Amino acid sequence: MPAIATQLASIRQRMAQACQAAGRNAGSVRLLAVSKTRPAGDIRLAHDAGQIEFGENYVQEAEQKIAALADLPLSWHLIGPLQSNKTRFVAGHFHWVHSIDRFKIAERLSIQRPAHLPPLNICLQVNSDDEASKSGLTSAELPDLIKAILPLPNLCLRGLMCIPAPGNHQAFHTLAATFRQLQATIPGLDNKTPGKPHWDTLSMGMSEDLEAAIAAGSTLVRVGTAIFGVRPVMA
Ligand SMILES: *Cc1c(COP(=O)(O)O)cnc(C)c1O
Repeated sequence: MPAIATQLASIRQRMAQACQAAGRNAGSVRLLAVSKTRPAGDIRLAHDAGQIEFGENYVQEAEQKIAALADLPLSWHLIGPLQSNKTRFVAGHFHWVHSIDRFKIAERLSIQRPAHLPPLNICLQVNSDDEASKSGLTSAELPDLIKAILPLPNLCLRGLMCIPAPGNHQAFHTLAATFRQLQATIPGLDNKTPGKPHWDTLSMGMSEDLEAAIAAGSTLVRVGTAIFGVRPVMA
């Protein structure tokens, strides 16, 4: 298993190549290093190799790492499900939440966001496989939820996130089309008002499919295995 710094360099290379192939600016896609199940020491190594943004799935696991790494200027993204009883910690310690799928959680985060912090960045998670078993919103549910969230003062609604089934690259194109359609039809998502909102984020693509996601318009890829290695199987 090559060192984390080597793996990071090779992911950045893959991203640059995918941008070039898609005729996109190399700076138009951000890398989120998904550090779930990895120890704080691995995150520190990634930081030393220039990585700032990290994604965690489980709030309880993230709590310890955020405390252990408080000396570093890291940006923490929650990409896993969020229950009501964990919103206070998330509002106080995370910079982004990608997995918003209902108003109640968004409202709690806005209320609980400490006044000294900037608005919490959020994305809405869309179920892009149309499987009832999967989490996330249907595209039909998005407009009403967006209109309800936009007035919340301590959130900044940035865009959409999806976790399609492996190989479902069409889902990336569908999400990108939905993103543009919402922007064209919902007042407040046109990015013309200074301040918030900044409707600018399509969080899609992982280790196996980041090229396809970038070709479809991803602005943020979430990569775990290709940086940190294969995760231990969770009990
Ligand atoms: C684990 C995870 C990732 C990273 O997946 P890899 O295949 O390890 O790159 C990305 N997004 C979400 C939501 C995840 O849970």
